Amino acid sequence: MSNDFLKSVEEVYDRAANLVPMAPGLVEKIKVTNSSYIVRFGVRLRGAMHTFTGYRSVHSEHFEPVKGGIRYSLDVSLEEVEALAMLMTFKCALVEVPFGGSKGGLYINPLDWTEQELERITRRFTQELSKRGLISPSQNVPAPDMGTGEREMAWMADEYRRLNTIEINAWACVTGKPVGKGGIQGRVEATGRGVQYALRAFFDHPDDVKKTGLAPGLKDKRIIVQGLGNVGYHAALFLSEEDGAIITHVLERGGCVVNPDGINIRALKDHLNTHGNAEGYEGFVESGLEMLEEDADIMIPAAMELVITKDNAGQIKTPLIIEAANGPITAEADSILNQKGVVIIPDLYANAGGVTVSYFEWIKNLSHIRFGRMQRRENFDHFSAIINGVEMITGKSFPDNYRQQALSGSTELTLVRSGLEDTMRKAYEDISKEWNANPEVIDMRMAAMKIAIERVVSSYGSLGI
Ligand code: NAD
Repeated sequence: MSNDFLKSVEEVYDRAANLVPMAPGLVEKIKVTNSSYIVRFGVRLRGAMHTFTGYRSVHSEHFEPVKGGIRYSLDVSLEEVEALAMLMTFKCALVEVPFGGSKGGLYINPLDWTEQELERITRRFTQELSKRGLISPSQNVPAPDMGTGEREMAWMADEYRRLNTIEINAWACVTGKPVGKGGIQGRVEATGRGVQYALRAFFDHPDDVKKTGLAPGLKDKRIIVQGLGNVGYHAALFLSEEDGAIITHVLERGGCVVNPDGINIRALKDHLNTHGNAEGYEGFVESGLEMLEEDADIMIPAAMELVITKDNAGQIKTPLIIEAANGPITAEADSILNQKGVVIIPDLYANAGGVTVSYFEWIKNLSHIRFGRMQRRENFDHFSAIINGVEMITGKSFPDNYRQQALSGSTELTLVRSGLEDTMRKAYEDISKEWNANPEVIDMRMAAMKIAIERVVSSYGSLGI
């Protein structure tokens, strides 16, 4: 299966690379993964030695550090990690984040181990990565992915710090850390927030929306979400609470929750956290992937790769799919959906919010100061002077709501959100322009990949290659 994933990513690359002029041989150089490591290490647990297998692939070092998440899952394999590392190279290029692409994984079911055991395993894994330069603020910066989160990143950062006691930038060795341990406000929800911003950007382009046959605006759009983990939960929460969308289906392990009037995402998440699955929640039906074929306006696959294949693509009814997960649609399914006129907002762009805010976190760690700290008071004084002046000249008092808005100043969270929204909007503009201007660019996936390849080529170009 994971081989199919790698093939799918390579196929998208091949198709888009065809449209980009480049020096002879560069097509292959940019395509290949530069290096992949498999580490096997033992941890003594429960009175026995347990051997674990971890992976870290570096796809491209045209920018350093290289960047990409680490996942804990029993689906992890070398091919999967290489496919994800390749996606990272182009994702970073697309959203203009100056990192190369990397990805890692540990073959493990986190649910099989206690928190203490997971900490020991994660610390040992970090030692293995550190020995090989596969975790470092200047060379390779992991982040959370499927099965990992703030907790694992905090353990990794702490272990790296212990191993590198005189490294002043040690906290920048991973991103996605808790705020109290060098993290940044807004990182946890960044990928889901990015999905929301991507959909808002799409609906702000009426000509693109017309291609789906959907009515304008996100309000009242019926949405199917697969996976209520970090990415799916935040995307579904923001879209339902802030944009008035209706989440009609949530597919989780073992079944699906259905409610045509809209699922309460917070309540369902509480249930999942308490019970470990969606069973027993109102509207739960035992089911599998066939629920992706239900009638709705938008589908958000946010769980894993290869869920829409040639076997079910023909039955998909949603006219718009946004790939919150990496690689949920195979190359074959992509062609089938394209022929049916389904519009797909590709993973390369759709889930780039995570790496964008990771970039902000890395900068924060290197600069050793919270965003906004130097400017906040100065901005207050500056805007106070303007408001006082306006009041004096006009003899009227400044409206309270505007005063509050002007004087509240920028916090780390507001700065992160505005930086993320700006990044997602700018990238959407680039993709939409490319998609609509060039008849050879048949869809947004090709547009996004073409732009990303052009940027990587131009980075090689500046070295005279
Ligand atoms: P997660 O582990 O937090 O969540 C995954 C969710 O999917 C879980 O709730 C799990 O129960 C559910 N799930 C697993 N198998 C399923 C199945 N067969 N059917 C339905 N649901 C299933 O992972 P995440 O961090 O949210 O990542 C999800 C996807 O988003 C992955 O493809 C990941 O690479 C991608 N992604 C994540 C980030 C990030 O910042 N976390 C960034 C970019 C891309």
